[in-house]
Amino acid sequence: MKIGVLALQGDFSEHIVMLRRLGVESVEVRLPAHLEGLDGLIVPGGESTTIGKLAVAFGLMDPLREFGKSKAIWGTCAGAIFLSKDAKRDQPLLGIMDITVERNAFGAQVDSFEADLDIAELNKATQTEQPYHAVFIRAPIIATVSGSAKILSALPDGRIVAAQEGKLLATSFHPELTEDSRFHEYFVSLAK
Ligand code: GLN
Repeated sequence: MKIGVLALQGDFSEHIVMLRRLGVESVEVRLPAHLEGLDGLIVPGGESTTIGKLAVAFGLMDPLREFGKSKAIWGTCAGAIFLSKDAKRDQPLLGIMDITVERNAFGAQVDSFEADLDIAELNKATQTEQPYHAVFIRAPIIATVSGSAKILSALPDGRIVAAQEGKLLATSFHPELTEDSRFHEYFVSLAK
């Protein structure tokens, strides 16, 4: 099992630390050749416009789309935006997940917050019961989920914050910034 972490911008090193804690080998991905031999890829949080522009500059757009046809990809926050098919702005998107997003939907940086989520799929996969403590930093919401994509989690007011489509995963929040490794475990199980 080898998981790549897209290391163009954002908090990729926190994902690598989390994978290491789980005993999973990880690789920083900056060029198309780095995708070779990987079972899955994490696109970190950061700034989705920057990640998109750098992915274009490094010739990663089509190789990433190709990778996502058979392999697992998980986008956290900016990464989720990058996987979506529409972010209502002109920016490079992979467009491989049947979700649309609204960027900065909870307001500015100072409106960042944390919330406990009940994620049935996560509890089932990791055989745990406790709520998932999620960190939202200038987070997007997942505005629509269609086709074969499914809602994984929503806030009490109904706003969607996690979705899955086969081996593709999108979370508005940042599991790499907590001590709870269940989301990474869940992703690794999808990549298997
Ligand atoms: N606000 C950022 C964006 O729109 C995402 C923030 C994050 O990844 N924490 O790209």
